[in-house]
Amino acid sequence: MERAVLENGSLYYTGLELDRAGPLRSDPAWMQAQRERPDLQIIPLWSDTCLVRAGLPVMLGAEQAAALGPAELVFLGLSVAGPVFAADVSGLGRAAALALAGAEDTADVRALIGVISRAEAGLLAYARGLVHWQRRQQFCGSCGGPCEPREGGHVRACTACETMHFPKIEPAIIVLVELPGEPRRCLLGQHQRSAPGRYSTLAGFVEVGENLEDAVRREVAEEAGVVVGAVHYQGSQGWPFPAGIMIGFRAVALAPDIAVDQNELTDARWFTPAEVRTRIADSGAVPPYRHDSIGRALIESWLAESADHAETCQ
Ligand SMILES: [Zn+2]
Repeated sequence: MERAVLENGSLYYTGLELDRAGPLRSDPAWMQAQRERPDLQIIPLWSDTCLVRAGLPVMLGAEQAAALGPAELVFLGLSVAGPVFAADVSGLGRAAALALAGAEDTADVRALIGVISRAEAGLLAYARGLVHWQRRQQFCGSCGGPCEPREGGHVRACTACETMHFPKIEPAIIVLVELPGEPRRCLLGQHQRSAPGRYSTLAGFVEVGENLEDAVRREVAEEAGVVVGAVHYQGSQGWPFPAGIMIGFRAVALAPDIAVDQNELTDARWFTPAEVRTRIADSGAVPPYRHDSIGRALIESWLAESADHAETCQ
């Protein structure tokens, strides 16, 4: 049976409907022309949160751009409606930021899942990640000098030593480990920081000098004491909360033995498809995954194969 590979359309924060216009944004004259277009749209962000009116994120237009004051416009790309920017209004107090945008509240983009479309979620997450990095890269890591934005905000250059700084992206692997043989079983762990009862796929950051497959093997061995053989790529998801990319895998365990690292997990167990389905059905407010996460997609694609398998056996 062919392994399911996660489709872009099945994941949140993928398949951005925006031309990032990478080759154009390095031209300062072109960038200035985009900032002056009457059809530009601006996503305001206050301390990494969206500004919300009637439950929906607010977008600002050209008439409000002048009122943004010192907020730098960060270029996200070209939509069919015109150029799209983000602006960090964290320098304003929360009340002033809400008043500027005519908003009633602030909300993290992940709290708006289910209300906004996948395309909107991807755009807002992209804006959040880029604005967050801008705020964190005010000074040069080499000499401590002040940095200024270039290329629409996709580069920050040190004004003292001219070092170019690029957005920091932190890769992490996330893996559904399965045990060969019948019944089918997959490994899920309960993390120290998780809500009680939430068992999820294992995940961890890639270390320096490590490839993705070795990161999978190391993380599974460290967290659950499980030795993994074959590792197969499934799909990836930008996760700019604040700076991640999740790279999803399916891996095959060489033996069922588990030895949990109590610093990371409180428990790890093998679950049959029926047991996972029961947990999902009974979990109520604590499902074994975030609705918008690739961890959900890894579990659901595995469960879907189990349904196919059950039908084949009948
Ligand atoms: Zn410098």
